[in-house]
Amino acid sequence: MEFIDPALLTYCEDHSTEEDTLLKKITRETQAKVMLPRMISGHLQGKMLELFTKMQNPKTILEIGTYTGYSGICMARGLGKGGKLITLDINDELETMVRGFFEESGLAEQIDYRLGNAIEIIPTLPGPFDMVFIDADKNNYARYYELIIDKMNPGGIILADNVLWSGKILVEEGKKIDKDTQAILDFNSMVQNDPRVENALLPIRDGVMMARKI
Ligand code: SAH
Ligand code: CA
Repeated sequence: MEFIDPALLTYCEDHSTEEDTLLKKITRETQAKVMLPRMISGHLQGKMLELFTKMQNPKTILEIGTYTGYSGICMARGLGKGGKLITLDINDELETMVRGFFEESGLAEQIDYRLGNAIEIIPTLPGPFDMVFIDADKNNYARYYELIIDKMNPGGIILADNVLWSGKILVEEGKKIDKDTQAILDFNSMVQNDPRVENALLPIRDGVMMARKI
């Protein structure tokens, strides 16, 4: 499901700071060489992540789901001096490519890229986090949220991607709900009912839940 008229989306992109050569290259190489290239954040969402990071000025960001590094580089670009991004992914086939992009970004020193299952890695991270971007396997969204919520600084921002799940969260009566859709529905209502945060579900691209720890 497209949420926005393609002509409007093009207009939005034409009025958002252009992607630089590296981000264009990451997009090209992801499309040419990697499975499921639709998962990449892309121009508009990438710039949004960079600007959110600049507004939030986090000391530590945690990203769950690096993929080819696009969103990570966007957030790392928003970091101030001494700020750091920890980014996790279970897919070690992408490691060489991703490390190459991080080197090219000139920000590799601020990026701590770890391979493994985020469910196992997060409990080993002390925190605190000022910003978290949840963008890995959808059926674990609620678990990721529970693993990080107590490690968020007050005022810390949690962003979770794809929470509109191509519109599948609007369940038609009598229709069977698949596992991932159910996981997203559970995650969204969990955040909505959590008194520890204030939140807004932004209808950007595939939907971004923004929750701020009180
Ligand atoms: N944030 C990226 C896209 C992430 S795609 C961007 O916007 O460009 C989702 C990623 O989550 C995939 O690379 C996948 O390997 C990773 N992933 C899936 N399950 C995971 C897990 N249990 N632990 C860590 N990473 C996981
Ligand atoms: Ca995503």
